[in-house]
Amino acid sequence: MGLAAWPCWKTIANAPGNLGPNKVIRMSACISVTDLVKRYDTPAGPLDILDRISIDVDAGQNLAVVGPSGSGKSTFLHILGTLDEPTSGTVLLMDRNPFELNERKLAAFRSEHIGFVFQEHHLLPQLTARENVLIPAVARGNAGEQAVERAKQLLERVGLGKRIDHRPGQLSGGERQRVAVARALMNGPRILLADEPTGSLDHANSSDLGRMLLDLQKSDGLALICVTHNDELAGWFDRQVRLESGRFAEL
Ligand code: ADP
Ligand code: MG
Repeated sequence: MGLAAWPCWKTIANAPGNLGPNKVIRMSACISVTDLVKRYDTPAGPLDILDRISIDVDAGQNLAVVGPSGSGKSTFLHILGTLDEPTSGTVLLMDRNPFELNERKLAAFRSEHIGFVFQEHHLLPQLTARENVLIPAVARGNAGEQAVERAKQLLERVGLGKRIDHRPGQLSGGERQRVAVARALMNGPRILLADEPTGSLDHANSSDLGRMLLDLQKSDGLALICVTHNDELAGWFDRQVRLESGRFAEL
């Protein structure tokens, strides 16, 4: 797919200055966060878990988020994934404020644009690898022949071409997490969010999965944000930020 076809990019015909017709310039980020606050009211008073965070992640960019346990990393990803709402601030995904959408439209938006990978694979044990990968397409009422073929191709891309009909119980931990990555990509999202995706894997599997996520991110031009405790993995990302006391520090 050409850059101009990506929703994150706009083709400006007859743009001013030295940009000629059909030059592609970036108008906005896939993920654009401004002054994001998440506040919990506790008996001890209000607690700002996220305290005016701002960050942009474009198509084709990757970002690792590190930080101590309880610092708000999952809260941040859940808000970006529209699974939780900000207390204040602005979150734009693919140029839209998803929190303005009604519940039905928000679910459709999430399913179209955002892929998730969690620490646990959350595969359904009774389904094969291919059927698990198909779930996001089924949820959109789109599980025809093309989708079945796409699920197979995704499993081949994550190195599981010979495990398509295996059930989760017949796969190793690393293989199960690869299926979860293929499932996250099923609907062709531009945004991939991973919350400690290697947290349950040994060192070798962790490295393999991390490299695979970055390869997929680069080849598909995704905006990838990955929370990790693994410093080696974080070091492979183009950008790293530490979340501490509600704020980001660039590393
Ligand atoms: P991390 O992923 O960095 O370990 P989390 O985002 O899961 O951290 O949690 C950040 C903080 O927010 C934790 O201190 C947690 O106790 C607090 N928290 C999460 N949910 C609630 C809630 N519903 N009410 C009050 N505090 C909460
Ligand atoms: Mg967490």
